[in-house]
Amino acid sequence: MARYTGPSCKLCRREGTKLYLKGERCLSDKCAFNRRTAAPGQHGAAKKKLTEYGMQLREKQKAKRYYGVLEKQFKNYYVKADNQEGIAGENLLRLLERRLDNVVYRMGLAASHKEARQLVLHGHFTLNGHKANIPSILVKVGDVIATKETDSTKIKGLVEAMGDHIAPKWLDIDKNAGVAKVIAMPERDDIDFEFNEQLIIELYSK
Ligand code: SF4
Repeated sequence: MARYTGPSCKLCRREGTKLYLKGERCLSDKCAFNRRTAAPGQHGAAKKKLTEYGMQLREKQKAKRYYGVLEKQFKNYYVKADNQEGIAGENLLRLLERRLDNVVYRMGLAASHKEARQLVLHGHFTLNGHKANIPSILVKVGDVIATKETDSTKIKGLVEAMGDHIAPKWLDIDKNAGVAKVIAMPERDDIDFEFNEQLIIELYSK
């Protein structure tokens, strides 16, 4: 499964915002974006006025990078979102939120989407009682996501650390057991990261 393996902090500087790709480090003084906000590259510090296309492209790249999805898969999400009823931009974000790795992140079991993806790939979770090790699985209302009972001390530690995590309202979480039930579809207001999803839709619908 393909994934981005380059430097994460560079992506935040490119998008001009913190994407929280490195867990605890992102909240500490060590965050590279706190020290240097200019875009990477020789002319990164130069102030450039973005064209309409540039703004649309940057918004798409920001969403892709935040959720850790590559171009082909992201485009497939757009196609699916556009074919659904309702507002395409909101549909797109809802699809991204429903990914299993994102659910693990929202449960507070991982400090970043990257870590959540790795935990899923390593088979630490079940979906409705069955092993689930594909990060892109889309959860639906009624699904139950749980840590495997036999799991390592690392996972037990992560479950214990869920204590003060505030989960979105579409997930009903049992913090003692490390279990989440999907009780609703994620709504636009549930996403606490700033996106202008309309720009993404405009980019793809050209
Ligand atoms: Fe981005 Fe986190 Fe790196 Fe800061 S530490 S630049 S938020 S990835």
